[in-house]
Amino acid sequence: MTTATTDNAFRLDGLHALVTGGASGIGEATSKELVRAGAFVWIADINLSAAEALATSLGNARAVKMDVTSTESIEAVAAILPQLDILVNNAGIGHVGSVATTSIEDFDKLLNVNVRSVFLVTRGLLSLLLASPSKGCIVNIGSVAGLIGIKQRFAYCTTKGAVLAMTRQLAVEYAKELRVNAICPGTVETPFVEGYLDKYHAHEKEKIREELKARQPMGRLGQPEEVASMVRYLSSREAGFINGSLFTLDGGWTAA
Ligand code: NAD
Repeated sequence: MTTATTDNAFRLDGLHALVTGGASGIGEATSKELVRAGAFVWIADINLSAAEALATSLGNARAVKMDVTSTESIEAVAAILPQLDILVNNAGIGHVGSVATTSIEDFDKLLNVNVRSVFLVTRGLLSLLLASPSKGCIVNIGSVAGLIGIKQRFAYCTTKGAVLAMTRQLAVEYAKELRVNAICPGTVETPFVEGYLDKYHAHEKEKIREELKARQPMGRLGQPEEVASMVRYLSSREAGFINGSLFTLDGGWTAA
């Protein structure tokens, strides 16, 4: 077994990583962190201009347009990747509603973007990951919403529960060939949360922001960089025995 020495700990030199939704929020911070670790990062996002701006600023990265709900789009990206060692299934969207107020269209949309996407992207890039000489690695971005019930998040909780189930299934199916793990963040300060505050609480943003902080015992929102550090760790050789695990990163929310 190869172990790290202090001066090459958590390095990813020579590895290729692809981050879906890699142009904003947690994905953006992850793209930056993996480049810092020495990886070449494919920033795969539906928002190509944002991905391009980030790739230019990072250097050891390339932007590619990918819609994670489209097999054609995923296949087009798979065709240009020379190798793939790390896949971060991060792209996702939110939704507010109970079982009574969630429309069928919105439920299907959430399943499509948050769940079917993980199936399509993982399937589309699987042969590249299996060919990785360093043993391919998948990190799925779940949520505490996949672990506990959150009021008014019927569809979102459903989708994140499915992401965690897919993580465990893949980890068992490919235990000899890949490592597959998931991170379950609490509320993290990203455009995703700002968009939620703007859309549903435009006139009481600060009040609701304080409530979001208060439900996490540490009394603050998480930072995207804190999730990115966990992605880097899980992708590194130091995490070589970690497979099928779920990591909460929530300031104590699920411990309360
Ligand atoms: P964000 O909105 O800041 O970024 C999401 C990115 O995904 C954007 O760049 C967007 O263009 C891209 N995207 C959206 N639909 C896409 C599609 N069909 N194909 C490709 N790219 C697409 O969001 P974020 O807060 O960074 O969230 C990232 C992930 O983390 C999501 O899966 C989210 O559910 C999860 N998460 C977020 C929080 C939080 O509080 N921010 C907490 C737990 C989990």
